[in-house]
Amino acid sequence: MAEMTLPPVAKTIHLECKKCACERYFVVVAHTSATSAKVKCEVCGSQKTYKLPSKNPQPRQLAGAAAKRKEAAAQAKKNAHTDEYNNLMASVQGEALKYSMKSNFPQNTKISHPKFGDGFVRLSYADKIEVVFADEVRALVHNRQ
Ligand SMILES: [Zn+2]
Repeated sequence: MAEMTLPPVAKTIHLECKKCACERYFVVVAHTSATSAKVKCEVCGSQKTYKLPSKNPQPRQLAGAAAKRKEAAAQAKKNAHTDEYNNLMASVQGEALKYSMKSNFPQNTKISHPKFGDGFVRLSYADKIEVVFADEVRALVHNRQ
C-alpha cells in the first residue's frame, strides 16, 4: 500500500492562511506525527497544523462542542508551549550545538537535532537531558561513553 509522506522539514508548501485570508507559502517547522506537521506562514508567521489527506479517515470519537473544546484546549496548550520555546531559544546567543548521544550538553544550551530540529536544554542530568523542541519536550540521552 502506497503511503503518502509528509513534506520534509524546512520545505515550503502552498496552503490557505486564515490570518492572511489567502494562499501563502508555509514552511514546514516540524513533524508532529506520521501524518501531520507544524507549518508556518512565511508572510504573517502564524502557525498551523498540516495533515496528510487520509483515504480512510478515523471515525470521530468526539462530536460537536466537546470536540471543539478539546481542540481549543489543545491549541492553547500548544500556543503556550510555542511561546516558551521561542523565549528559550531567543535567550541563548550563538549557534546550536549538534546533538550526539556521546556529547555532553550543559543546561541552558541550544542543540540541533537531526530529526526534531533545534531545541533548548532545559535540564541536564548525568546521562540524560530534557530538551524543549518546537513541538514538544523530549528526554534525550547524552554523555554516553
Ligand atoms: Zn499568513
